[in-house]
Amino acid sequence: MARITDTRCPHCQKPMQRWANPQVTSWNGEFQWVCFNDECPYYLRGWEWMKSHFNVTASYRYRLEPQSGESGPLPVWSRDALKSNILAEEADADA
Ligand SMILES: [Zn+2]
Repeated sequence: MARITDTRCPHCQKPMQRWANPQVTSWNGEFQWVCFNDECPYYLRGWEWMKSHFNVTASYRYRLEPQSGESGPLPVWSRDALKSNILAEEADADA
């Protein structure tokens, strides 16, 4: 089965990182690709958008589901939010 090994964010062209799915979720699989680039325009735009639409200080990062190829926003409330769930590259050695 083909695996996505180098996934880039369509908004900033930076490599995306694997992010472990939370336990309680409707998403499939163990991880998703998430762009954790703090300079990503998608993420930077999100702060303003959330403020003007919902008057909250929050944003979202670009997320891609590896199995379905479905993408969407992953809400974050701070710059470091959710970063602890990033998977180390070594952890994914494909035996
Ligand atoms: Zn990005």
